[in-house]
Amino acid sequence: MLKQSRERAVENRHPWIFAGAIASESGPDDAAFADLVDGRGNLLASGFHSQRSQIRLRALVFGEELTPDLIRERIAASIARRRAVLDEGTNAARVVNAEGDELSGLVVDRYDELAVIEISNFGVEQIRELIVEAIGVRDVFFKNDLPARKIEGLSLESGGGGAAAPLSNGRTIRESGLRFEIDSAEGQKTGFFLDQRENRRLARTLSRDRRVLNLFSYSGAFGVYAGAGGATSVLNVDVSDRAIALARRNHEINGFDADFVVADAFDWVRKTRERFDLVVCDPPAFAKSRADIDRAARGYKDINLHALRLVESGGHLMTFSCSGHMSLDLFQKVIFSAAHDAGRSVAFVRRLTAGPDHPVSIYCPEGEYLKGFLLEVR
Ligand code: SAH
Repeated sequence: MLKQSRERAVENRHPWIFAGAIASESGPDDAAFADLVDGRGNLLASGFHSQRSQIRLRALVFGEELTPDLIRERIAASIARRRAVLDEGTNAARVVNAEGDELSGLVVDRYDELAVIEISNFGVEQIRELIVEAIGVRDVFFKNDLPARKIEGLSLESGGGGAAAPLSNGRTIRESGLRFEIDSAEGQKTGFFLDQRENRRLARTLSRDRRVLNLFSYSGAFGVYAGAGGATSVLNVDVSDRAIALARRNHEINGFDADFVVADAFDWVRKTRERFDLVVCDPPAFAKSRADIDRAARGYKDINLHALRLVESGGHLMTFSCSGHMSLDLFQKVIFSAAHDAGRSVAFVRRLTAGPDHPVSIYCPEGEYLKGFLLEVR
């Protein structure tokens, strides 16, 4: 039951109903679904339940009945929404993006015949079989290393499920006519950064006859697109051996030459004497929580200041923050301050976000984590 005077928690249709808004609870602790009612017993919302999380209810419907069929329909609708993303050249996309597809707590990335599923909520975990059935692909891998699962008391062991097949590593996908090996078991995210597809396409168009630097390269995906776009040279930098090994393979299977450096990007940008025409800077999330924002802002400023110094006049910097806690506004201020201290004349050419397979619910703007700018450095 909702506390009195907390009606706003549901009126705005935000899917996260926090423990602090709940006056009393009844029913089994381990229920997958729960209803939220007001003091008079009127149904306000229904959704995935969790006894342990601060987000006690992930609301899926407001005043309607929640049924397994409704979840099946939502999964089918999410998949249908990706039709425009998946084509001849591209067989990988995020097919369910949590709140952005009205399925809070569930993320599904499709890599050809493999679906990698991330479940961050107790209630969602109880309907795994329904999810696997509704997605309807041959192989399934549950990527269970999310910190949220620990709070929920769910297993942190990743593995196959449903119509499971032996895992995933060494699989290749197609994106924009290029090929990439993914690393779902040990790699970052679900094995590949699907959210950057559109931005990589933009990088491809900017790469002809350019010297391209790909900082925080992970699997080298931006570098491969730069090669495809006709770059004269491509250099990938990442602190992880495993990432650089993957980046090498990805350049190889597409037939592009490139250079690779295993190094801390913060040190490397200070030491190099090389200059580049296009620099991509896509670091990991520096702000994991709100308390980290100041430290994160200093990190973003530092790396962008040095990245700007490496750009030849007339070149571009494509820079990103994937910290959900960092607002676009703050990121822009950080870039301002980096440009100012670098003493460079810099113009915004374009704002960058995640691709169309990462929709964001207007009721849950927290879903918009990836932001970036294409900057021209004069
Ligand atoms: N742009 C990539 C995704 C980057 S993910 C793509 O499109 O696929 C962030 C990467 O930064 C990870 O591979 C991680 O290993 C690397 N990383 C983290 N800290 C780093 C550091 N200090 N220096 C260099 N790389 C770092």
